Amino acid sequence: MSTRTEPRIYLSPPHMGGEELELVKEAFAANWIAPLGPHVDAFEKELAAFTGAGHAAALSAGTAALHLALRLLGVQRGDEVICSSFTFSASANPIAYEGATPVFIDSESTSWNMDPALLREELQACAARGKLPRAVIVVDLYGQSADYDPIVAACAEFDVPLIQDSAEALGATYKGRRVGTQGRCAIFSFNGNKIITTSGGGMLVANDAEMIARARFLATQARDPAPHYQHSVIGFNYRMSNVLAGIGRGQLRVLPQRIAARRSNFERYQAAFRGVPGIRFMPIAAYGEPNYWLTCITIDPAEFGASREDVRLALEAENIESRPVWKPLHLQPVFADCRVRGGAFVESIFDLGLCLPSGSNLAPEDHERVCELVLSVPKKSTPLVP
Ligand SMILES: *Cc1c(COP(=O)(O)O)cnc(C)c1O
Repeated sequence: MSTRTEPRIYLSPPHMGGEELELVKEAFAANWIAPLGPHVDAFEKELAAFTGAGHAAALSAGTAALHLALRLLGVQRGDEVICSSFTFSASANPIAYEGATPVFIDSESTSWNMDPALLREELQACAARGKLPRAVIVVDLYGQSADYDPIVAACAEFDVPLIQDSAEALGATYKGRRVGTQGRCAIFSFNGNKIITTSGGGMLVANDAEMIARARFLATQARDPAPHYQHSVIGFNYRMSNVLAGIGRGQLRVLPQRIAARRSNFERYQAAFRGVPGIRFMPIAAYGEPNYWLTCITIDPAEFGASREDVRLALEAENIESRPVWKPLHLQPVFADCRVRGGAFVESIFDLGLCLPSGSNLAPEDHERVCELVLSVPKKSTPLVP
């Protein structure tokens, strides 16, 4: 363990703006301590306006938003749902909640997001077999948009609805438009590690007002209009608390500053590692602007002189949190039986990839310390070639 007295440097800690507490106090003053209330309504409107999506439903988690999206698109037991392989398990877990089966797709090297050509191949193969997937879930990884034009075209060609898992990418753009507006619907997460947080929470957005109204209905235990409690379908308890929506409204006001700070982290890492053999960054595709949620690098051990794990452990020894990139879902034991198209690209990134401390409140001197430490690792490790 560390012998240092410096406080831990986290990968992506919460960062309050200043107005959140006042907004929470408003909720207390009005006694709106409930899973509905004026902050919930306002947060939905403000997030819809920010993203350009027509409508939004504030929910208890991004995972809950994905689950409702699948339910609303009619995913059923025995269906298949296509999903990016390179992502967090929460992207695919809701497929299993519905008794459906995920089919995973490899990424392209230009953005680390779902490869549109492989998606089209898989849809063609599904059509040839006579069983199209019920939906496609595309992830905007680490805050960067996927390449939507060819993805939307492939989904339209086979008439399969597209769900955007934009949990990590609030504020990122694709060809000038914010993510969340390209598919049939999209989800965002306000978990504690995301670019803005409500401690826990999520949002489902869509242009279809009816879809969002139905999401709110299902998320509030599916209560039919009646003076007594009457139910015709199975519902969920998935609404966001009005208290937490107050935090979300305050956070949304500072989102542009949060993106700028994370972008500056990324640029300072780039400057520090420029010309260092074996260190490469997640590429930024020309079609859009990420929100720079996490800075991710790959470390080639032969070129750099130390492995990703050497670097991660050296940082940990100094009480600095870093993380290997997501383990591809087709490699996860729980999804071992699922089909995958391709897979070699994300497997290679998983072996080499590391997410570096990327908080919007990362102090410049802490940032410098992280960079210096990373660069000092090769001298400390035993050489690969004697
Ligand atoms: C965080 C995350 C989720 C889940 O969001 P929660 O709000 O934590 O439920 C889903 N997908 C991706 C890609 C995520 O990073």
